[in-house]
Amino acid sequence: MIAAWRFTALVITILLSTTLWTSSAFGQPAPYDRPVDAAPQAKNIGGGYITPEVQKPLPRSYWLEVLDVALLAAAMILVSWLVLRRRNRAWLLLVTIASLAYFGFYREGCVCPIGSIQNVVVALTDPEYSIPIFVTAIFFLPLFMALFVGRAFCGGVCPLGAIQELVLLKPVRVPRRLDRTLGLLKYVYLALAIWYAAQPIADRDFVICRFDPFVSIFRRTGFAHMIGIGIGLLALSMFVGRPYCRYLCPYGELLSWCTRFASRGVTITPDKEIDCGLCADACPYGAIEKNRAVRKSCLYCARCYASCPRTGPMVPTVRSEAAASPDGGRS
Ligand code: SF4
Ligand code: SF4
Repeated sequence: MIAAWRFTALVITILLSTTLWTSSAFGQPAPYDRPVDAAPQAKNIGGGYITPEVQKPLPRSYWLEVLDVALLAAAMILVSWLVLRRRNRAWLLLVTIASLAYFGFYREGCVCPIGSIQNVVVALTDPEYSIPIFVTAIFFLPLFMALFVGRAFCGGVCPLGAIQELVLLKPVRVPRRLDRTLGLLKYVYLALAIWYAAQPIADRDFVICRFDPFVSIFRRTGFAHMIGIGIGLLALSMFVGRPYCRYLCPYGELLSWCTRFASRGVTITPDKEIDCGLCADACPYGAIEKNRAVRKSCLYCARCYASCPRTGPMVPTVRSEAAASPDGGRS
């Protein structure tokens, strides 16, 4: 049954990606203002010079930006409900596919909370820069949710997580020590992103966006090497669960940190833990330790529920043992 779901999700993702890749009509229409005022003008240069058709995108409409923030919030609430209360992976997969279609292929992966780290850094270090309110909202909303219900954003809203989640076919276990060592790369990446974003404007660089491995896939265009890296990472994601999330994503680390304060998180059993150990190998992301979901690493995929003989919708009145454990499953 699980294998069937996994295979179905993979087929849907491949079909969706292929359709969207080949359909330029699906990407959001980008309104342009032309020509750019600063471009060389024929009347200034003369000598037969013809002004090229230089274009600059117009800002997205205010109400569409509000819609993006509202959809982000609604999707995270829905994911939290499906994972924590309904314990329903089938519906979670549908939300994941919808998020990939909208935030990934339609919105073309921008603006996303991961890249917005850099906007926040610039806002904090450059008095000339004023961060748009909706970028601020997109940065803080998933962190705010993580403070209460854990990484719902990673569960089925983030398009980068979604595309890796949906292609996972036959996960192999990464040895714990290697997993932890590779996990340190996130800190290096986060430090580099902050360093480059904090530079004066002439030297400033948004490395998270520049090296986003999936944005070229979402946009159906980009440098050949970035498309190659994206496809290579997707191929790896078929056997290693979400490698970008676990080893590179700098925003994932911020979310992970916020989950330390969360009062809710994934509990493998719907009610009382029986410590049978059947869940030990269920998690493709190495987020189960001592028969408990480790809150900071749990990516809210809801896969482990199926491994539990007591699985079913969460009974609201029953407090799980993981939640009742001294640290509430936070460690
Ligand atoms: S870890 Fe990063 S890339 Fe992965 S789902 Fe979370 S925010 Fe997205
Ligand atoms: S513990 Fe693992 S399998 Fe269970 S929801 Fe979290 S990431 Fe998924």
